[in-house]
Amino acid sequence: SIVSRFAPSPTGYLHVGGARTALFSWLYARKYGGTFILRIEDTDLERSSQESVDAILDGMNWLGLDWDQGPFYQTKRFDLYKEVVAQLLADGKAYKCFCTIEEVDAMREAQTAAGEKPKYNGMWRDRTDHPTDKPFVIRFKNPQEGVVVIDDLIKGRIEVANTELDDLIIARSDGTPTYNLTVVVDDWKMGVTHVIRGDDHVNNTPRQMNILAALGADIPKYAHVPMILGDDGKRLSKRHGAVGVMQYRDDGYLPEALLNYLVRLGWSHGDQEIFSLEELVQIFDLSDCNRAPSAFNTEKLQWLNQHYIRTSDPAYVAKHLQWHVTEQKLDISNGPTLEQLVAVQGERVKTLKEMVEVSRYFFEDFSEFEENAAKKHLRPVAAEPLKAVQQALAAITDWTAENVHAAINSAAESLGLGMGKVGMPLRVAVTGGGNSPSLDATLALIGQARCLARIELALA
Ligand code: GLU
Repeated sequence: SIVSRFAPSPTGYLHVGGARTALFSWLYARKYGGTFILRIEDTDLERSSQESVDAILDGMNWLGLDWDQGPFYQTKRFDLYKEVVAQLLADGKAYKCFCTIEEVDAMREAQTAAGEKPKYNGMWRDRTDHPTDKPFVIRFKNPQEGVVVIDDLIKGRIEVANTELDDLIIARSDGTPTYNLTVVVDDWKMGVTHVIRGDDHVNNTPRQMNILAALGADIPKYAHVPMILGDDGKRLSKRHGAVGVMQYRDDGYLPEALLNYLVRLGWSHGDQEIFSLEELVQIFDLSDCNRAPSAFNTEKLQWLNQHYIRTSDPAYVAKHLQWHVTEQKLDISNGPTLEQLVAVQGERVKTLKEMVEVSRYFFEDFSEFEENAAKKHLRPVAAEPLKAVQQALAAITDWTAENVHAAINSAAESLGLGMGKVGMPLRVAVTGGGNSPSLDATLALIGQARCLARIELALA
């Protein structure tokens, strides 16, 4: 059965490119009822941090990408890597290289000067006259003939001649294993059948396949996911705005929106745009992934977010909204429930952050009116319509949206005015500004006493 993995290096937040790779790998495992492994590749001690590990786990959890095994930490597996290196050495599939850094540099310079691609020349590959008192690295004996063929599930067939590949260092002079070795050992020992990762690793793949073959391991299938570009065609980075997954939470996106966005970024299914995760698990396939890089488009993400805010269960949206309520320190103890808020504001905002920003008047009184709205609709005071509507609203005994609606209507009629002439001053009086959901629903949620007091204030 299928085993896929996500193997981030904890050297920063979980960025959208990584999240998309994780999503593809997760979907593939779920689709085939396989196993999804999370592996933290933290062997670069200088660049790795606990903070980044937390950011990755938070991001995965927030997106709902659950893993069946792990998180495994490579720093806890050094004994295993050392064993494998020792075995390769004992089997004559790896060798000690005593070159100094200066020697390697000189080799590179000479090759570059001769117009050749710089490459370790294998000078210690077959030597047995080993010094006993010199530091050494361990290099893999890469085959010198033949061609490595990757039948990439996204990119198609890729062939690399072994003459292009040099003898890779698999253990440093301090005995620590290098990146390509740890990946290989883990993919092997963890029984990974499908390596789905960013195509920045495609050059590592033939080398890793050679090591796997030397170990007698099964070679997994590979799928290299093309990168994500910014709207300027350059590789997506901080310059383009938010790139960390949790930043999207902070900015008011629902995980469904980001997931839906990410899956479409590099994969398609006809011209369908909206996909639930359950549906994706059914229909996702690597063969439908694009070979070309895709460009990030914030507007489309916002459009999807709006869709999910509007169409998801209000209780679910409210759960996510709570985080923003806390973040923006909005006291919601006096006012509608968050579910009620979602029901009236859902159509009107692009993000949950925005929803909180534009909803304070549901919970908090104010002493100032938005200047332009007040100038246009309140001052010079729309005293007559406001008084009439105040009276009609005060007479309501059962404060419902229907009764509010009827009261506003009757006030407008009694003055021979159109709804707008009454409605806009009322809106500014009760919400402080010129934008709100429908008046009857808004007033119903704000409550009778509060609405009357705010009209009073506007009249003062
Ligand atoms: N740790 C690598 C990275 O974060 C991924 C390695 C892999 O997926 O094989 O780029």
